[in-house]
Amino acid sequence: MKELNIETIKAFKELLGTSAKRIVIVPHVNPDGDAVGSALGMARVLKNAGHWVNVLSVNDYPGFYRWMTGHNEVSYYSKSSKKAAQLLDESDLLVCLDFNHLSRTGDMKSLIENYTKPSILIDHHPYPQDFPSVLISHPECSSTAELVFHVLNAAGFKEHVDKEAAEALFCGIMTDTGSFDYNVSDPQTFQTVGELLKYGIDQEYIHSQVFDNYSADRMRLLGYCLNECMEVFPEYHAAVMFLSKETQKKFNFVRGDSEGFVNYPLSIKGIHFSTLFTEKDDMVKASFRSKGEFAVNEFAAKNFNGGGHCNAAGGEVFASLSDTLDKYRELLPDYQAELIRTK
Ligand code: 5GP
Ligand code: MN
Repeated sequence: MKELNIETIKAFKELLGTSAKRIVIVPHVNPDGDAVGSALGMARVLKNAGHWVNVLSVNDYPGFYRWMTGHNEVSYYSKSSKKAAQLLDESDLLVCLDFNHLSRTGDMKSLIENYTKPSILIDHHPYPQDFPSVLISHPECSSTAELVFHVLNAAGFKEHVDKEAAEALFCGIMTDTGSFDYNVSDPQTFQTVGELLKYGIDQEYIHSQVFDNYSADRMRLLGYCLNECMEVFPEYHAAVMFLSKETQKKFNFVRGDSEGFVNYPLSIKGIHFSTLFTEKDDMVKASFRSKGEFAVNEFAAKNFNGGGHCNAAGGEVFASLSDTLDKYRELLPDYQAELIRTK
């Protein structure tokens, strides 16, 4: 990871000031492990330092993240937009975590956009939008959770980091690296994990909370999808999975059940570009993953109203699932040269 910018850390410290502040922390919509982990980890540290902190999420997140300390104090815009507005109104400072664009705050976008007090964005996605008062952007960092740990340490909060904060931050790093499978070429990430382990966290327990907490329905859904809803295109080194509403109903789908599905096709020999399309009420959610150089964030931005990282991106399609699949199949030949070249 690149060195933190001293001036930016100074600005961050100045915003936090010397007296207790009312701080609202906002992760991205449909929060993943890194969004939840960095938000709850940071909230814990700032609370330990004497601030009043509220984590405000646009919507709910899967049950397998609902064990981190502070999870039961999170406020949800989807449950009460009035309370969300009030929290922001009454706050002194807004901290945005794990997103690079206001569109990633979903239905809460206008509230965040119109926030008039100081704001901080800490994130590891490329091309951040320049909306906050202080921007701490490190696209080369494994996860926002890792970045938050370094920022807090550099800004003088080291003594306020405890086991509970370390658990949440560890969860963020673990999930954003696919359990230390990708985004871990920088030795510093392992050093960071080493530092977190020193707080006495039980990494096996944390891994188990996240990855051994599925329902039988979810496992059967995965089996069904691999069998019935996956197309493999060896000539393009690509594979796509799709999850219709009908299939979701059949397996009593709940949010989080398809987490990780998109990674499975990458285990097929020769496949280094994987896609999952999930049919929603008003659109199709796209998830993309790649191994090697094929930039799925560019693919997502150009074709599926999305973005993300080079090897993990997403998007939204306002078309039917079948039209979306047709579009995807038609696009593959345009990328053949790139897909063959990269690995
Ligand atoms: P996932 O496939 O897990 O939903 O998302 C993977 C990554 O893609 C996220 O960490 C985020 O960076 C990005 N991403 C997912 N969905 C969207 C989207 O709709 N728009 C944009 N710009 N990025 C997305
Ligand atoms: Mn992240």
